[in-house]
Amino acid sequence: MINKIKNLTYSLGADVCGIGSIDRFKEAPKGFHPLDIYSEAKSVVSIGKHFSASLFDANTKAPYTFVKNKIVQLLDDISINLTFYIESQGYKAIPIPADEPYEYWDSENKHGRGILSLKHAAEACGIGCIGKNTLLINEKYGNRLYFGAVITNMELTSDTLARNLCTESCNICLKSCPQSALDGITIDQKKCRQVCATSTPGGGFIYSCNTCREVCPFSKI
Ligand code: SF4
Ligand code: SF4
Repeated sequence: MINKIKNLTYSLGADVCGIGSIDRFKEAPKGFHPLDIYSEAKSVVSIGKHFSASLFDANTKAPYTFVKNKIVQLLDDISINLTFYIESQGYKAIPIPADEPYEYWDSENKHGRGILSLKHAAEACGIGCIGKNTLLINEKYGNRLYFGAVITNMELTSDTLARNLCTESCNICLKSCPQSALDGITIDQKKCRQVCATSTPGGGFIYSCNTCREVCPFSKI
């Protein structure tokens, strides 16, 4: 069954797919655990799609923004199709949107949370490790991945957890952040939001800073 699930996601365009049983989510904050979303959850399927390193060479962030938005749509399509497949096998499945609307919002600190941290889910499913820039790093695609997920009551065997790829001595991302928003463990969203997503003069939306992703040696592999 695991192979069928993974092959389906790959055939639909996913680049990475991992499985994590519910016991992998012990560290999830209260209210943001898979069981808080679906009380019968037994496993999580994490899927990821990568974007090309060439986007970092553009002199405008418009292509990066456009690609991210397209990838989010693709991941949602894969999650929904996987949901139908799991249901056809007699189980329940809940798709998690790749660009989750924040159901939690701390307006004072401008800190938002989706219903499930997709990068932490990817880590729990063995796809990679979270780096000091708070992004997931994968052996093959580095930190150039976005994620979706499906929660199911199907019991699936977890993939092996990935090793940590961030080295002790590297602090490039921390030193490069124009807002000093990173401390190596977490991100100060309030500081980051002041520069990372802005409106263009014409009223469009653009990801105006991705420096912590771009400067990481794992953005180039
Ligand atoms: S996106 Fe920019 S401002 Fe936000 S943490 Fe990364 S480098 Fe800092
Ligand atoms: S820049 Fe260095 S410290 Fe930061 S995430 Fe990448 S490898 Fe880790």
